[in-house]
Amino acid sequence: MPKPVTIRDVRVILTQPGKSRLCIVKVITSEPGLHGLGCATFTQRIFAVATAIERHLKPFLLGRDVDRIEEIWNMSMMHGYWRNGPVLNNAISGVDQALWDIKGKRAGMSVCDLLGGKSREAANVYVHADGRDKQEVADRARAFMEQGYRFVRVQMGGYGGSGSPLVKPKNAPPGAYYDPRDYCRRMLDMIAYLREQLGDEIELLHDIHERLAPIHAVEFAKDVEQFKLFFLEDALAPEDIHWFRTIRAQCATPLAMGELFNNPHEWQLLIQERLIDFIRMHISQMGGITPARNVAIFADMYGLRTAWHGPSDTSPVGHAANLQLDLWHPNFGVQEWYRPSALDYEIFPGLPVVEDGYLYANDQPGLGIDIDEQLAAKYPCQDIVEDWTQARLPDGSPARP
Ligand code: MG
Repeated sequence: MPKPVTIRDVRVILTQPGKSRLCIVKVITSEPGLHGLGCATFTQRIFAVATAIERHLKPFLLGRDVDRIEEIWNMSMMHGYWRNGPVLNNAISGVDQALWDIKGKRAGMSVCDLLGGKSREAANVYVHADGRDKQEVADRARAFMEQGYRFVRVQMGGYGGSGSPLVKPKNAPPGAYYDPRDYCRRMLDMIAYLREQLGDEIELLHDIHERLAPIHAVEFAKDVEQFKLFFLEDALAPEDIHWFRTIRAQCATPLAMGELFNNPHEWQLLIQERLIDFIRMHISQMGGITPARNVAIFADMYGLRTAWHGPSDTSPVGHAANLQLDLWHPNFGVQEWYRPSALDYEIFPGLPVVEDGYLYANDQPGLGIDIDEQLAAKYPCQDIVEDWTQARLPDGSPARP
């Protein structure tokens, strides 16, 4: 038996080349020059994840056989006894993705090949069109269509559709205010307008971002059905998932859900009862490629498609992992894409590229991505108190962001 390749070091790389603070894990092996990268990005609690990796996971992982991904994933999850939380899941994901990357490099195969091989050459992506009014949204969507995109997520005034003047009580605290009822009216009007202006062929998506009371989400899903969205995202909060039965019973609007999920209880019911159409977990938030692979296969058996979470708070390494899953999974739906900056491409050589609305992987083994650590270090993570997540309803009460 040859001596196993083992984990020699686990390093956390924090960087912020753009709006989002990113956490990358680098697993260094006993084999000279062989390392893997993984995404552990929980941008709002980035330093907690870094500490979990450095102080808790690393001492537990040093010296372990890099080939034993399943065992390491399960032991990492159970070793802390309390489990399935976002900080720990992201920490585990960083290591898990890096181990898949290492396995691929050792085999001379992409992670997609390790999973079973390609079902497609490239992944359809959707991009975000937002605007202050419906005309601006239409203009942006049209510009994307001219660049070859076939799937566009349409929002107006950010999440919650803020824009109309609100009547607040005296001494109302500062915050990201929105009015859910006004939101419903304005968004329906916008989507009707876009369908009329842009035609039937463009696939339109919309994200409610769990901002409605459950019964109003039911109402909205019914009202928007006529405009044939590709999917309606996060109509409900994870805490309200049983309400999907009510939506399902009343309309055929395709439903997508999952970016906030971190516990298997949250997706089991939705898949088994076929209450949604697309699962879209944030891969690092659910613990990495290992659980994503399992859920993708589980969902496939029930006819659900995948649409993994992929805005700028997924790191480029996380996007590379998303794409490997997209290329493999027989029942892939669509991939959210954030249009990286030139600096992102410089810091992360191998970051996938889009052409005509399709996302392509390179032919490198593993995840096919690396990091220029010296350049990344020039963009350290800032101390931020997020504003947009301090959401409030018109009377000033706290609301889901
Ligand atoms: Mg979303």
